[in-house]
Amino acid sequence: AVSAPTHTVSTTCPYCGVGCGIQLEVDDATDRIVASHDDPDNLSSVGMLCVKGRFGYTFAQHPDRIKTPLIRDGERFTGPFREATWDEALDLVASRLVEYRGDRFATLCSAKATNEDGYVQQKFSRLVMGSNNIDHCTRLCHSPSVEAMLTSLGSGATSNSYTDYEGAGCLVVIGCDPTSNHPVAASRMRRAIVERGAKLIVINPRRIDMCDYADLWLRAYPGTDVALLNAMAQVIVDEGLAAADFVNNRTEGYDDWLAVANQYTPERAAAITGVAADDIRAAARIFARPPVPRLIWGMGITQHTNGTANAHGLLNLALVAGQLGRRGSGISPLRGQNNVQGCGDAGCLPNSLPGYQGLRPDTLVRFGDAWGANGRIPDTAGLVVTDMVESMGRPDGVRAMYITGENPLLSEPDLNRADELFRRLEFLVVQDIFMHETAELADVVLPATSFAEKDGTFTNSERRVQRVRQAIPPVGGSRPDWDIVCDLARRMCDKVGLPWAEQFTYGHPSDIFDEMAQLTPILSGISYQRLDAEGGIQWPCPSPEHPGTTYLYADDFPRGDRAKFVAFEQGPLAAETPSERFPLVLNTGRVLYHWHGGTITRRVDGLMARSPALEVSINPLDGERFGLQDGGQVQVRSRRGSLTGVARYTYRMRTGEIFVPFVRLADSAANFLTNAAYDPESRIPEYKVCAVRVETV
Ligand code: SF4
Repeated sequence: AVSAPTHTVSTTCPYCGVGCGIQLEVDDATDRIVASHDDPDNLSSVGMLCVKGRFGYTFAQHPDRIKTPLIRDGERFTGPFREATWDEALDLVASRLVEYRGDRFATLCSAKATNEDGYVQQKFSRLVMGSNNIDHCTRLCHSPSVEAMLTSLGSGATSNSYTDYEGAGCLVVIGCDPTSNHPVAASRMRRAIVERGAKLIVINPRRIDMCDYADLWLRAYPGTDVALLNAMAQVIVDEGLAAADFVNNRTEGYDDWLAVANQYTPERAAAITGVAADDIRAAARIFARPPVPRLIWGMGITQHTNGTANAHGLLNLALVAGQLGRRGSGISPLRGQNNVQGCGDAGCLPNSLPGYQGLRPDTLVRFGDAWGANGRIPDTAGLVVTDMVESMGRPDGVRAMYITGENPLLSEPDLNRADELFRRLEFLVVQDIFMHETAELADVVLPATSFAEKDGTFTNSERRVQRVRQAIPPVGGSRPDWDIVCDLARRMCDKVGLPWAEQFTYGHPSDIFDEMAQLTPILSGISYQRLDAEGGIQWPCPSPEHPGTTYLYADDFPRGDRAKFVAFEQGPLAAETPSERFPLVLNTGRVLYHWHGGTITRRVDGLMARSPALEVSINPLDGERFGLQDGGQVQVRSRRGSLTGVARYTYRMRTGEIFVPFVRLADSAANFLTNAAYDPESRIPEYKVCAVRVETV
């Protein structure tokens, strides 16, 4: 029987970037969480929650939690782990990492951890390890969006707020399935459409749930978004719908861009995309005419070899229609993990210090002064995660890695090859709450606390910094990520004779936040005191009196006075296209009941009950063509690997295309199939398109 709860702790959902407020009910007698409720006072969710926020908390107390440090005995990769004390494990890690200071070391930070955890980890890597090889999972989701936004606008963040969805006159939902992936954001979209009459344009090769509400559904072929977006922009200009004042006064590069866009007539784009020319015209007219429209996108835009070009296509559309710098309009890349925004803000990137401050001399001096390390912070950009993995195959590549809260041997493309490369590492430390595919290869595994066992902050997709509050004591001997890394840093400083041990002696996460805010202009007005008193605050917030910023670009652009049009031609649709042996296009994504690779949600009984098997969604005509049965076991095979799953017939799929979620279920995972081909600008892998075949098992 469930015990009577005795106190409630307000904190932030640990799943997606919507950042809903949750109230955890804790039984004082057992120190166990017994329920999770919505938080009506949370400024982002205002009392809404999805199934993961409501029922997904039980993972924190799952018996599989790692409770003590583990050291591998005997053979690397295969020998058993033995339990160790913290002293033994951290001394071992310190003595081994000393050998790899500099570019042979790399660290992967966690977008599920707090801002404070991320800040300490990047500081450890830069200061103690002397390496800018620092990255996090944004490389695999929105790096093209960030790349394009930084180039065009000077900021890589969502421009407006979730509440703006409800004030928008038109929503363009492209390359994402918000009902499954960002359910509370999807609720706001539906409210805008149903209650306020907003128009909805869905652009997606799959028939997602939002299509039921759409005024227009454009079913472009995978990989053809550049042509489609160029053509929409061409119509806007051709029909005199461009925002002339905005273009003239607030942008640059218009003429060069238009020379390219003008080549994409709706008829030419129709031939490339499969979308009727009249539908392209209709979409352009709805988007460009008042009232204000909002562009919302996800991995269907970014996870392509032309991901950055796609993202620029969207930004060009916003610029030519003048739809930035106003309440209700703007651009909204839907971020995946709960703190992927904050992880970047905290400096977990290879080319910038906290607050997206590049490795410029002035910035390096400021951080050097604050950290007592002038001239000692490495000043050249490090490797992004996909290049870290590629480098493992070279003699001069990364040889030691420290990974917190990520599972690259499930999230990297072409997993068989990634596994081979990881086995070339000479030393691997994984710090996490559960054992997983990457931890199974580690030399040392360190037990971290979950979100429910520590204090800190997360920053959601609308740039809102929100409090994370400890609800229960650490499970077993686990410790917060920041605390483990600080302890390790001090031990290494002692071992090597580095003078920075006192740089890692924080008493509480608020001390870490205060240091980060002091060095980071976008956060400098935010403090735990304000967050506790006022609720979440949206950056930029430059002073304690500043209320936070609900929408960006009202007056200027961080890259200078003007935003920049950037032209791209439609390139090849994908690095790998169907052939006689592999006649189908594989599209990957997520499902409502699971979170990413499933390391957490596979351990939540209620969610597993709703989604126990890996489903391969396929059009019934393709099912017949390949001799399959609805509900039958099938094998999906690409040039790189295979998986087994259950065939699910659905007319939501177009013939010639199948969909597999990338959660690992029944030991099958989509990334055994995907292609390690990269967008040249952002280095994101092409998870959204590869060629496969499907057979009955
Ligand atoms: Fe959590 Fe996202 Fe669901 Fe909100 S929408 S409850 S943040 S998973």
